[in-house]
Amino acid sequence: MNWNILEKNYNKDDYIKNETIFALANGFLGIRGSFDEGNIIGHDGTYINGFYELNDIKYGEKFKGYPSQGQTMVNVANTKRVNIFFDDEKFDLNTGEIIEYERNLDMREGILKREIKWRSSQGKIIRLIFERFVSFKEKGLIFYKYNIIPLNGSVKVSFESILDGGIRNYSNPEDPRVASTSETVFETIENKTLYDDLYIYQRTKRSKKEYGVYLKHRILKGDLTRKRYFSKDDSSSIIFDFNLRRNESASIIRNAYYSLGGLNFKLFEYLKEKSEEAYENGYDYYLDYQKKYYSDFWNNCNVEIEGDDKLLQGIRFNMFHILNSTGKDGITNIAAKGLTGEGYEGHYFWDTETYILPFFIYTNPEIAKKLIEFRYNTLDKAKERALQMNHKKGALYPWRTINGYECSSYFPAGTAQYHINCDIAISIKRYFESTNDEDLLVKFGAEILFETSRLWMNTGFFIDGEFRINGVTGPDEYTAIVNNNYYTNIMVSESLKFSVYVYNFLKKNYNKEFIKLINKIDLMEEEVEEWINASENMFLPYDKKLQINAQDDSFLSKPVWDLEKEKNFPLLLHYHPLVLYRYQVCKQADLILAEVLLNYKFDKKQIKKDYDYYEKITTHDSSLSTCIFSIAANYIGYLEKAYNYFMMTVRTDLDNHHGNTKDGIHAANMAGTWLGLTMGFGGMKVYNDNIYFEPKVPKAWKKYSFKILYKSRRIKVEVDKQYIKYSLEKGDPVNIYHFNKHILLQSSYKLKNR
Ligand code: BGC
Repeated sequence: MNWNILEKNYNKDDYIKNETIFALANGFLGIRGSFDEGNIIGHDGTYINGFYELNDIKYGEKFKGYPSQGQTMVNVANTKRVNIFFDDEKFDLNTGEIIEYERNLDMREGILKREIKWRSSQGKIIRLIFERFVSFKEKGLIFYKYNIIPLNGSVKVSFESILDGGIRNYSNPEDPRVASTSETVFETIENKTLYDDLYIYQRTKRSKKEYGVYLKHRILKGDLTRKRYFSKDDSSSIIFDFNLRRNESASIIRNAYYSLGGLNFKLFEYLKEKSEEAYENGYDYYLDYQKKYYSDFWNNCNVEIEGDDKLLQGIRFNMFHILNSTGKDGITNIAAKGLTGEGYEGHYFWDTETYILPFFIYTNPEIAKKLIEFRYNTLDKAKERALQMNHKKGALYPWRTINGYECSSYFPAGTAQYHINCDIAISIKRYFESTNDEDLLVKFGAEILFETSRLWMNTGFFIDGEFRINGVTGPDEYTAIVNNNYYTNIMVSESLKFSVYVYNFLKKNYNKEFIKLINKIDLMEEEVEEWINASENMFLPYDKKLQINAQDDSFLSKPVWDLEKEKNFPLLLHYHPLVLYRYQVCKQADLILAEVLLNYKFDKKQIKKDYDYYEKITTHDSSLSTCIFSIAANYIGYLEKAYNYFMMTVRTDLDNHHGNTKDGIHAANMAGTWLGLTMGFGGMKVYNDNIYFEPKVPKAWKKYSFKILYKSRRIKVEVDKQYIKYSLEKGDPVNIYHFNKHILLQSSYKLKNR
């Protein structure tokens, strides 16, 4: 069970949510888990990572620096759809009778299967088997396979394969987490039916971005009697008619190939060739590759939990979706909802650096590097943005974006979250500390670090020798535009320190590249001295009376929101933001997040005090919160709380905890699950050029294990009630620390669990 997601009954009420759960993707292309035969309910979707349309952001009052254009990931032509008729009666699970039903997402192989026994209203009993996967071998390719078998007599089957370009995006004007309007964004340039093939070529009306898709068919089996072709302005279809006798099957494969277009690019020729190649190589060829790809992935990152299968299933499900939704080409990233839905309009946030990157850094660093490369590729836009925001120098990364330009229209919980800059910088530090990849620093990292550091010096200022940063919003979106957000300040301090380290490191070890970079960006030695000064003298608010770190300068002077009496969650859908801003109430971990990410800088007793205070006023209305509280609770020995928060995190989407899984997965939360297991229960930390573990087992589990890639070594950690075992699965001997005990890990090492 724990490698599969099984749906044993068709339940209308879960249909839209399950379109997300059963979504498939490969980082470039994503399809929702909508039924092939369609459904009157639901919101079908097909997405190409980074493919968006621009729209005007309309403001009643527009001020300087407000972004004028939004970007929305668009729903592209649908190739999933088929209409299947049995003796002219349309197959639809909402009619007839479902005798057997099973949908199975196999996470070990990345394939989705659905098997149904259905009785038509005319009494024909049919077995239908659907399979699909989005290929990891060819990023533009999707395979669909169908087997249709009449079980109680002959039947005439009409199988209509549709290529539908008349699609729209989903919208809900009442929910700020999804787009408020939807219009047709495409004009169709070409729509063709060729011998057994369908093709569409479309362009976004406004930004003139092009893409196309080519759909090919192969009839593997079945007594084909006739073919018919249909074409409308923006869709086309082929109908294959079969006469099937009892127990005789029709078997059909469709392969769809998507690609972006562009100037002078012969899209049609390209797609035709790629589709023919896919047709020739065949379904099994790509399926074998798929299995191999996932097997390598799981080999690097598989986790085990004995004693709770549902939990294990949840963790794997989360890792599966993170892998699928992440762009791996340096020009795309991972949206907050992945490639599984249109929530947050397909935008990339700090979720990537703070939650998702660590997962990849410690399991698949090549992907992590590509995500950092994305920030490098958008650095110029971040520099432009800094100028727009009246900073003389530096780069300000966008709070939410697809193409690198800021597109958040609500600045208090958008642009004001300047911490995106230090989140990116700290993720580079984390990546470097775990990989020693100097190439990344030389090629991209240093420049990002230097430009983001400059931004801070152009945002904050020294007062009485202390460096202060005013007018920003920290991670907690129920508090906005504050002075000295603790999280931001301490992350900036660490990132400035790292910039200085990288500056000196490059100067010494890569002098040629260093000089080139310094000249390119005109960086002065005095600027670097200022970074040291600001880092060392960063102001961090502390409340002497309560003896806790303060979330910001004014936070603790506000009245406390009484969460025990509150019934309206999430608060953001019930209260005007200003009301929330007037109180001590947190949407998500903020100060506690700093204490988790920069754990080595804090004293355990202080974390405990802070935790006790901030836990009471945190709603966890953001799905980015519970995993962080779980890690912190583990650290300070609140094991039951750690376990409970972890349980709340793991099945957020599978069990629809936030009620909006229909709009797409909660990608950061999913990666947070893995962080909760490794950094929380495993007590894994990397700092000072060392890796540390402090494993604990929750009461409910017999045993668990996880794997970490660290400096080209793969370390497996197995923990049960009696023993803890570290095994070196790959690479040279490595130093590790177990509760501060030094171990030179050569093959494996077993210790008693204390
Ligand atoms: C959270 C942000 C997050 C965004 C996208 C919001 O609800 O408050 O921290 O970046 O969702 O996941």
